Amino acid sequence: MKYSGIGGQAVLEGIMMKNQDSYAVAVRRPDQEIVCKKETAGGLLQRHPALNVPFIRGVVAFIDSLVLGIGTLNYSASFYEEEGETGEPAGEKPLDAMTVVLTVAFSIVLVVALFMLLPVLITQLLSRFITSSFLLGLLEGVIRILLFLGYVGGISMMKDIRRVYMYHGAEHKSINCIEHGHPLTVDNVAASSRFHKRCGTSFMILIMLISVIFFMFLRFDSLWMRLLSRVVLVPVIAGISYEFLRLAGRSDHPIVNLLSRPGLWMQRITTREPERDMIEVAITAVEAVFDWKAYLKENFPDSYAEYMRTCPETVPAGNESEGDGRGPADGAETSGAAGDADRADRTGAAGSSAAACGCPFEA
Ligand SMILES: [Zn+2]
Repeated sequence: MKYSGIGGQAVLEGIMMKNQDSYAVAVRRPDQEIVCKKETAGGLLQRHPALNVPFIRGVVAFIDSLVLGIGTLNYSASFYEEEGETGEPAGEKPLDAMTVVLTVAFSIVLVVALFMLLPVLITQLLSRFITSSFLLGLLEGVIRILLFLGYVGGISMMKDIRRVYMYHGAEHKSINCIEHGHPLTVDNVAASSRFHKRCGTSFMILIMLISVIFFMFLRFDSLWMRLLSRVVLVPVIAGISYEFLRLAGRSDHPIVNLLSRPGLWMQRITTREPERDMIEVAITAVEAVFDWKAYLKENFPDSYAEYMRTCPETVPAGNESEGDGRGPADGAETSGAAGDADRADRTGAAGSSAAACGCPFEA
């Protein structure tokens, strides 16, 4: 596996892909056509390089990803709104800054209330029956994880979310396809794994797991202190989780892989096998921000040569490419996640400070 630096996120009937400071959103419109918009990201981390320090950058990247996520989701949803609401063409009304700030703030408050504070309150009720503070701490952690799993699993019952999870799968599969050295064709993407270590889902479950350990030992007698400590420590825990994920994305160390397991397991819920037309959307988004042929040529010369040999009509890497790369699936045996260890050791890729996560968190 070879780190590519790209990351993405599923939106409504579409996918956002980000590479360094540009991102593209590809959406399948109701009339089945794919539209793709490319923009410069310019988040807080880009504008304030001073914030790019370990443990701080995780929190900043989290906010950046929320802002970008809300903007791109709004863009994709604009194609599916009831007609005649505003009279403006789809995708042409970016959110104003205030709306974004309020939405981000609301999301954060909701997440903290639901997954950080509610478990404390439920545990408080149980403290009448249980006296061991260690046990109560453990219980709080278990409740926290059950709430999170319940939430993620619960919303997956909704039809729209199920499709978002399928697009999420397409997003991971296209990144895995590239990073395992296979040409970005629909067949190759379909054959790739839908699980990826650098994923926003992994980030969330890591936060939950690290919280369990933290708060098992951090018990206060006062309920208010307990609540306050949970809120105050959220950024600290998020910072630690982010650094781990950043490491995990570039490492194949057995310990890192072991610790990545819960996140990968969680992706069994948050990703689903996509349809082929969803994969096409993913490929459109990737190609808008990432020259995968050049990447393949540089990092997987054999695979690139094979690709060029079997598809002589395609334009070589580096040239402005028109070719859609309908190659025979030379990599159809790929199944992704753990394999390809022989190609794994070339590290230090991409040079960018981006800690690109599979999704939705990337710098
Ligand atoms: Zn993901």
